[in-house]
Amino acid sequence: MIRVSGKTKQACGVFGKVVLAVLVSALSIVAIVLATYKPVYSVLIDGEFQGYVSSKTKLQDDIETYLQEGDSDKVGYILLKTRPEYEFDLVKKDVPTKDDEVLQLVKESCDIYYRVYAINVNNKDVCLVESLQDAQTIVDSVNAAQKSYTKKATVMISEKYEKEFNAVTDLKSAANDIIKPIKDENAKLVKKVQTYAATKTVPQSVLDALKSQSADLKFGLPVSSYVITSRYGWRRSGYHTGCDYAAPMGTPIHATEDGVVTCAEWKGNYGYLVKIQHVGGFETYYAHCSRFAVSVGDQVKKGDVIAYVGSTGNSTGPHCHLEIRYDGATIDPESLASASNNV
Ligand SMILES: [Zn+2]
Repeated sequence: MIRVSGKTKQACGVFGKVVLAVLVSALSIVAIVLATYKPVYSVLIDGEFQGYVSSKTKLQDDIETYLQEGDSDKVGYILLKTRPEYEFDLVKKDVPTKDDEVLQLVKESCDIYYRVYAINVNNKDVCLVESLQDAQTIVDSVNAAQKSYTKKATVMISEKYEKEFNAVTDLKSAANDIIKPIKDENAKLVKKVQTYAATKTVPQSVLDALKSQSADLKFGLPVSSYVITSRYGWRRSGYHTGCDYAAPMGTPIHATEDGVVTCAEWKGNYGYLVKIQHVGGFETYYAHCSRFAVSVGDQVKKGDVIAYVGSTGNSTGPHCHLEIRYDGATIDPESLASASNNV
């Protein structure tokens, strides 16, 4: 058993009173502070004070949501250059907290990249639009307009992210701006070919101009089903300048590549002959036809029916005599044309 002396009891009593007094005053101070002040967070961006907010976690959550989702579906992504800094503070109760305003200031400090769509013509971006649907509308109308042209532009859509941009809203005039140069170029091509057809000899300048145009030609075959009855080169009858594809009378003859018809008429030994001028100085001949499906000046696409198999001119049976010429000189058609290139 521990015995406690009267003195000790007295000392404890004094100590307890002091502790109680200190506690009561501390609590009173806290009560007074809480009655007068409130806990807030100062928000700083780049060291600059933006305002007080009542909840740090709510602001942080709101910022995260904004960075993830943005304010509209046109936003591609948002860059917050510097994260806000927070400092705990006690301010008088009447000092306002501005949670919404501070969030707005944080939003304004961000870089917003909008999702837009570029119309790309021959590997060059020519304009921007705000929606994929608008982009498709322009591409469709350009492609419809250039459908019958010999020289087409490659028109594509690519997604872009831009901070500042000028999107076109007049889709029709944007499409027209793209079509204009393609149309002009094709008109020039037709004019060159017509000049060539009219003079019947190829002026060097015309040849040079045609050759200078990019030619990525992949010749198909003029008839889909055939038997080769005479190949290119020396034959008993002389030098054979083309390849003979025998097929039944009236079989459709197809253009082997895109081009412009420069001849659709009777040409002696060739009988009824179609000639197509292609870019890059290439020309194809289709001889011994029974009838034509095109006339001079027509722009044709690979696969288009241009004539029908016959046996006109110097011919012993229905076939299509195909000739491929480059710069006027004949080339073995079998070295260039193949069924794998057919459309
Ligand atoms: Zn022949």
